[in-house]
Amino acid sequence: NQPVSSPGGRRFLVQVGISLKPMENVLGRVASLGLWLGPIALLLAATAGWFMASRALNPVRNIVRTAQKLDVSNLHQRLPVTGARDELDELAVTFNEAFARLDGAVGEMKQLMASMAHELRTPLAALRGEAEIVLLHGKTIAEFRQLLSSQLEEIDKHARLIDRLLTVTRAESGLLQLKRQPVDMESLLKDLADTLGVLAVAKGVSLNFEYGRNLVAMGDAQWLKHAVLNVIDNAIKYTPEGGSIQVRANGVGGFVLLEVEDTGIGISADAVPHIFERFYRADSSRAKDIEGVGLGLNLVKWIVDHHGGEIHVESTPGQGSTFRLRFPGDAHSPT
Ligand code: ADP
Repeated sequence: NQPVSSPGGRRFLVQVGISLKPMENVLGRVASLGLWLGPIALLLAATAGWFMASRALNPVRNIVRTAQKLDVSNLHQRLPVTGARDELDELAVTFNEAFARLDGAVGEMKQLMASMAHELRTPLAALRGEAEIVLLHGKTIAEFRQLLSSQLEEIDKHARLIDRLLTVTRAESGLLQLKRQPVDMESLLKDLADTLGVLAVAKGVSLNFEYGRNLVAMGDAQWLKHAVLNVIDNAIKYTPEGGSIQVRANGVGGFVLLEVEDTGIGISADAVPHIFERFYRADSSRAKDIEGVGLGLNLVKWIVDHHGGEIHVESTPGQGSTFRLRFPGDAHSPT
């Protein structure tokens, strides 16, 4: 609408109109198309969304399926890793690492049980056999006494084995807490010289100690003593009468170095890598029927590792062995 004035003073109203019909037609068509196409588009979007989501969740489904099948008998199975390096892969890799650790721990437990059964079965059968023979044929009190005293010895031996085994198991299951405090190695070695000197004399081997002053290691006195005692005890055990054992200790570069050198039976090169394993005993020591169960060095290694130290062995069969232990020293002492 537009008012217009003529030069003669008359006023007009100009009205211009256009038919809305075509536009209404178009809008009507759009509305009817929308009515059809809307649900179809929605359906298509939902189908595509479902398809894409199920593809994206496929790895999760695989992980769930594999995890459901996992149990103690097939811990070696691993979750599938697609290689896409996404969060799901990261999750699968993390789970796989946890399974690998569990697998290792369960494997060790199985091996421990098998070794235990093996270690206990033969002596128990022997004890039983002995008892049966004496019960059937023994006549005098002296015979029964002899049986009982020999069985007491065997029982003590196996009680020691079980004690050691319990210590090793407690150590490995994290139940043992190691202290971290300065340990006076001089007095520790003096104590050991007194205790083990008696054993060495009884065995007919010479045991000499040589150590510097102010030797201070950092750790748990009781466990450090246990480790050193085990190594020297082995040296005495595996050195025949007339041999000698030299224990040296000194401080070098913030560490306490301890060396136990013997002139004993030695360890063959193929046995050396195994001597720290549980229940491992070199053929030479088995053949000579030297008492032992193969747990001592396993515990020594655990103690050394948990002190942040190291242990190495050098040995020549028939000539002797040298065990070298290294423990962190006390940073505040002159070691
Ligand atoms: P064991 O109870 O048999 O002594 P260990 O764990 O202490 O068990 O030692 C494992 C094996 O290492 C021994 O059986 C022995 O064969 C070998 N061994 C350890 N120390 C010595 C040594 N000083 N001389 C010779 N062999 C040794």
